[in-house]
Amino acid sequence: MTADSTLSSPAATPGTDYAATASEAYRAALQVIESVEPRIAAATRKELADQRDSLKLIASENYASPAVLLTMGSWLSDKYAEGTVGHRFYAGCQNVDEVESIAAEHARELFGAPYAYVQPHSGIDANLVAFWAILATKIEAPALHDAGVKNVNDLSEAEWERLRARLGSQRLMGMSLDAGGHLTHGFRPNISGKMFHQRSYGTDPATGLLDYDAVRAAAREFKPLILVAGYSAYPRRVNFATMREIADEVGATLMVDMAHFAGLVAGKVLTGDEDPVPHAHVVTSTTHKSLRGPRGGLVLATAEYSDAVDKGCPMVLGGPLSHVMAAKAVAFAEARQPSFRAYAQRVADNAKAFAEGLLRRGATLVTGGTDNHIVLLDVQSFGLTGRQAESALLDSGIVTNRNSIPSDPNGAWYTSGIRFGTPALTTRGFGPIEFDRVAELVVHVLSNTQADGTSKAKYTLADNTADFVRAASAELLDANPLYPGLTL
Ligand code: PLP
Repeated sequence: MTADSTLSSPAATPGTDYAATASEAYRAALQVIESVEPRIAAATRKELADQRDSLKLIASENYASPAVLLTMGSWLSDKYAEGTVGHRFYAGCQNVDEVESIAAEHARELFGAPYAYVQPHSGIDANLVAFWAILATKIEAPALHDAGVKNVNDLSEAEWERLRARLGSQRLMGMSLDAGGHLTHGFRPNISGKMFHQRSYGTDPATGLLDYDAVRAAAREFKPLILVAGYSAYPRRVNFATMREIADEVGATLMVDMAHFAGLVAGKVLTGDEDPVPHAHVVTSTTHKSLRGPRGGLVLATAEYSDAVDKGCPMVLGGPLSHVMAAKAVAFAEARQPSFRAYAQRVADNAKAFAEGLLRRGATLVTGGTDNHIVLLDVQSFGLTGRQAESALLDSGIVTNRNSIPSDPNGAWYTSGIRFGTPALTTRGFGPIEFDRVAELVVHVLSNTQADGTSKAKYTLADNTADFVRAASAELLDANPLYPGLTL
């Protein structure tokens, strides 16, 4: 399998030597940076070398194309543009208007959404915008209507205090952290757990799978204003039609956080009931994980919520990052190419091959497998904590992250799981055969790691293990180079 063409020769520029042009651009940029702060140029070069030399299996990371990366390095960064297209708090925003409009148009087309807001700086910011928009639409707007005023400033002191109390006493229900939810889905240490009365739904203890009947029963009892679906570490697909049914039954707004699997939605791997966009009232996302764009966030909404979402900046967000919105537009344009669908399908196929490779070698997986881009390995059968496993893998050049598993006996810091994801190595060109070999290397490392009984962090890696795995990985990495043809 060859590296994804987006990294070496995008369809938009046939006939040009894309890698040579990108190399020239980066060499020039690094030379300029070097003249001001050489250490930053050095760290930037080193990061490329490190990424090229490691097996990146972090489920939330990817490699954006040079087109996306280069788009971020411009003077669009210099412009303040609070507000929205055509309604800015600053003069001179005509080019930012153009950039934001193009990015939003691509996002709407890509996901088939009625409305897209491309300003959020990150996934967490996108979720905050969504929470605000739902509170504004469901609680604030009716209160203003009842009081016969247009603006909160026109409420009496007593009316305002009543509204503040109502805004602060709403309920949110999301997936629990140890079942794979994200901390912004109502986890107590996060602001979402402090803004809302919160209840979590988990997964079936026997199967590790979402139990929709249990979600329904919990929602009927708790009656949340917001039902959040979506995850960071759940290796399975979600039926969003059923989640919407549950939300409708209890009068909740369904918010889906597709930060992790947006690439599978864009690439039409997740369709019908598994595509959140036709079913949710509000969908939030990051743009840098499986979607392979710049670091950033995105909100998609139905007409009911779009006006409130549009006020995200300056209500919740600082001024938009115009250079990043531009890069989002480029990434969305890439994701609308047929090659992105092929990429997304390979991401899912590779996850299956990787999971099967682990299972065949005796490993235990949460839910017994995967049908998205995530594989969650329970490392207890190797006698290790997640922390020990993560460090031993890193010593061997395999970059992952430790992760809680349902009812984790080692808690959220040491954990008992390792989360793997296939988006990044799939971008490099890895296919099922390479992922099976990676599974073999992972099992080799973990089988040769001895826990130190005195600490949940300490371990011993058998002699030669790291060298052997690094050499074997190098063969895979050399055959599937990152940014092929890019020389600094
Ligand atoms: N939502 C989910 C489901 C995530 O997995 C993440 C990131 O890990 C986020 C939100 C937050 O994204 P960001 O780091 O861009 O704020």
